Formats: sequence, structure tokens, C-alpha cells
Amino acid sequence: MAAWTLDAALHDPEVLIARATAFAREVVAPQVSRLERERRIGREAIREAARLGLCAIEVPREHGGLGHPYSVKCRIAEAMAAVDYAFAFSLINTQNVANKLAREAPARIRERYVPALMAGEIIGCTALTEPHAGSDFSAINTQARPVSGGWQLDGRKAWITNASEADIVVMYAQTEPGSAARGVAGFFVDLHRDGAHREPGYALSGQHAIGAGGFRLEGYLAASDEMLQPAGKAFKAAMASINGARTYVAAMCCGMVGEALRVATEYGEKRTAFGSALSGHQGWRWRLAEAASELAACRMMVAAAAARIDAGQDAQLIAAQAKLLSTRMADRQIAVLAQAMGAEGLREEHPFGRHAVGARVANFTDGSTEMLLERIAVALRSQR
Ligand SMILES: Cc1cc2nc3c(=O)[nH]c(=O)nc-3n(C[C@H](O)[C@H](O)[C@H](O)COP(=O)(O)OP(=O)(O)OC[C@H]3O[C@@H](n4cnc5c(N)ncnc54)[C@H](O)[C@@H]3O)c2cc1C
Repeated sequence: MAAWTLDAALHDPEVLIARATAFAREVVAPQVSRLERERRIGREAIREAARLGLCAIEVPREHGGLGHPYSVKCRIAEAMAAVDYAFAFSLINTQNVANKLAREAPARIRERYVPALMAGEIIGCTALTEPHAGSDFSAINTQARPVSGGWQLDGRKAWITNASEADIVVMYAQTEPGSAARGVAGFFVDLHRDGAHREPGYALSGQHAIGAGGFRLEGYLAASDEMLQPAGKAFKAAMASINGARTYVAAMCCGMVGEALRVATEYGEKRTAFGSALSGHQGWRWRLAEAASELAACRMMVAAAAARIDAGQDAQLIAAQAKLLSTRMADRQIAVLAQAMGAEGLREEHPFGRHAVGARVANFTDGSTEMLLERIAVALRSQR
């Protein structure tokens, strides 16, 4: 077990959020350009973040975590994405795997892997997507065949956050070809074991600290107790947890827009044109006022979704709506705020270019815009 203890002050959510915010500004911000140039996950920074409890936010206290409710993770995700979406998303994904294994894995797996995840010594990922199946999760064809003592897994996963360096995976496979969602089961996979082959991380337009990549399983043997959820339950469980993911992705979009707005507001007070500060021109400042108003509305939706999740209530509709509107707002407003900066906005030290790619990524992670619209449309029909 990893030698790892938590400062008791981190049990106060406000202390944890304040420290996470300061960590993002003081430790992560100076590294993001270098990580981007080196095209890699910020592994050392994740280890430092873990010392602040950021890989253990929701992990129950009886398993060594902080045991905070969902909304605390959501606020931390927003604060960290203000600095860098990719780093924040990578970190939160490892936290999610720690939380899931702490709650759902048998003691043998929990005791071996959860302390190492919480300490940031190993990295986790969650793999639904395959090269041929993204939006249509029920079409996955990584196969799970029963063998003596467990399951043989064969197939490929693609576009997985952290996969370029992850040590372990919570992944989904088909136990009954042709049965779609009904046959999908959830497994624990250790990427260091025989039969697991990591593929090189993807070269993207940016956001490489997210570690997007894939892996292949060929004759990988999972022990019986490494099936975390059986067929019939796994698909539903994956879909249930996606409401939380959609809500924190929405919060992260708010974080990026909030930071872009802060930088543009400050710049508008200093930079002059035609005899006054940029902020003295009505046409210039109205753009910022619109961004601030859309941001406020999205934050209210995120808070409403997070409150429902904390209360154990159904959050499908509000989570989909929050993500739909927040990702669209981020796509649009980051470009508007970059424009308000003039050429200055293009400098690497400012977040605009990085956040613009982050907002694009947010349009796909945990449900594309079209899948959200479909979810909202289904809810409308069921309300009739
Ligand atoms: C950086 C990054 C990290 C990711 N991390 C993870 C991860 O950790 N784990 C994981 O499992 N997945 C991950 N994903 C994958 C993500 O979940 C998928 O990208 C997403 O589900 C969409 O699938 P797709 O990209 O294959 O698009 P496709 O399914 O090929 O769809 C292409 C386009 O068509 C639209 N479309 C599809 N079907 C319909 C329809 N019926 N009606 C209208 N429009 C439709 C889609 O919305 C999309 O715009 C990640 C993706 C990215 C970019």
C-alpha cells in the first residue's frame, strides 16, 4: 500500500477548493505550454495534485479518501479547467477510477490499486469508445469470452483519456455478440499484464495533456472477480455515471470562459485605442457583457445539475442541457473574447488558443452535442 496521508484540513470542502485553485494557478499554469510542446500528460503535477487529495475527492473515507460529495469535484474541475482543460480532465479521470474501484471492486483489487491511484502513483482511465463505435456505445465489439477462472478479452479501444500512459482501466466489453447494450459488461484491466498492448498517444491539434490514445487486448485474461459489473447492469451503470461527467464537463467550460473573460476584462482597462481604454468603447464592452451573462446562466445550470446529483435525484435532463449550452457557449465566447484581445490574444501565455481547443474537445467527451440533443428530445417526449 502507498504511504500516503491526508491533511485533515482537506475535509473542509472550501479549504480543498481553495488549495486546488491555488495549485492550478501556481503549479499547473507554468507547465502547460511545456507539456503541450512535449505532448504528454503532466504526470509529476498529477502526483503533486494527489498530495492535496485531488485524486481522492469522492473516495469514501473508509477507503482513505476525502469522501466529498459530487459538487465539490465539480467546483474543483471548473477551477482547474480555468488553467487547462486537458490537465484537469486527466486528473479527474484518475480520481473517478479511484472512486469507482473503492466503491465497486472486490477488496483484493481495491486494496492493491486504490491507494496508488489516490497517491497519483498510477493513472487510471475509463474505456467505452472503440475505433468503430463512439456515440453508439452499444455497438462495441471488444469481446469477453468465458474461460476457466474468468474471461478472455479481445478487442481495441480508441480515444481514451489518459490511455497514452494509464496503468489500469475500467472498461466495457461485449459478452454476447449481437445483443447490443444487454450483453455489455464492465471489467477491471491492468495494462501491464500479458495480452494488453498500449498504442502510441494521438497527435492532436492541442490538449495533449489529456493523454488521448488507445490500446489493444489480445488474449488478455481477466479473473472472475475482475468483472466489475455483469451484462445487464454495466450499460445502465455507465450511462448513469455519465450525468456526473456531463455536468463537470459543463463546469469546465464555465471555468475556461471565466478565465478568458477575466483576462480580456483586465486587458481592456490597460489597452487604449482611439483615445480611450478598450473598455471605454461601448461596442467592445458589450461583447464582454454578453459573455458574462451567458456564463452566469450556464453556471446556474451546472449548480442545479450538481445539486440533483448530490441529492441522488435524476439529473439526466439537466446534465444534458447544462453540457449542451455550456459547450456551445465556450466554443463561441472563447473566440469572441480572443477577438477582443486583438493580436495580443494569440500569445502563448494567454489561454485563448488552448481553451478554444479545450472547448472543441468538450463537445465530444461524455456525449457529443447531437447525443445530448437526442437525450433532451427523448425527455420532452416522455413529459407529454
Ligand atoms: C480528447 C478526447 C478524450 C476522450 N476520452 C474518452 C474516454 O476517456 N473514454 C471513452 O470511452 N471515450 C472517450 N472519448 C470519446 C468520445 O466519447 C467520443 O468522441 C464521442 O462519444 C463521440 O464519438 P465519435 O467521436 O466516434 O463520433 P461518431 O460517433 O463517429 O459521430 C460523428 C459525429 O456524428 C454525430 N452523430 C453520430 N450519431 C448521430 C445520430 N444518430 N444523429 C445525429 N448525429 C450523430 C456525432 O454527434 C458526431 O458529431 C474521448 C474523445 C476525445 C476527443
